[in-house]
Amino acid sequence: MAQNSRKKPNILVTGTPGTGKTTTSFSLAEATQLRHINIGELVREKNLHDGWDDQFDCHIINEDLVCDELEDLMEEGGNIVDYHGCDFFPERWFDRVVVLQTDNSVLYDRLSTRGYTGSKLSNNIECEIFQVLLEEAKESYPEDVVVALKSDTVDDITRNVASLTDWARSWQPKA
Ligand code: ADP
Ligand code: MN
Repeated sequence: MAQNSRKKPNILVTGTPGTGKTTTSFSLAEATQLRHINIGELVREKNLHDGWDDQFDCHIINEDLVCDELEDLMEEGGNIVDYHGCDFFPERWFDRVVVLQTDNSVLYDRLSTRGYTGSKLSNNIECEIFQVLLEEAKESYPEDVVVALKSDTVDDITRNVASLTDWARSWQPKA
């Protein structure tokens, strides 16, 4: 099916862990009535992984299984996909790719509160400092699809959700 067949847009919300993807996606789903898909949860629920990575302390996600699982929903449209990676999804799936960004010291506190320590903490802070997700998004999607949004405060979330809701409301299927 062609990319322009969907009647509602698909949005990818990405960024370093702790930047507010899930909080933002949840609130955006409420405001737009689009479907929030948390990839981490989906992977756990449907076992779309190849076991546990002891070094990085997370599941080894099976990208092919995830993409197969999502294909029909993405074709239908109306999804908010929430994941800290973006290079393995088909480019044609997304009308908007949002990269959330957070100030290093704010992110440090958030991840510490979440219980991250040692290399898990420093790897994620480095990921944010080097804008890994923004670079990955720019390499994987057209320039006009990718937007970087600041996510330091609750006001930022409110503002981001409002602007993305406006964008989603005015989105039109390609003729
Ligand atoms: P992610 O899904 O990107 O890992 P979460 O949405 O789970 O991030 O947010 C991690 C924690 O940081 C949560 O406790 C959340 O309430 C808080 N948080 C996230 N974004 C913001 C923000 N912009 N302002 C204040 N707190 C935030
Ligand atoms: Mn999350």
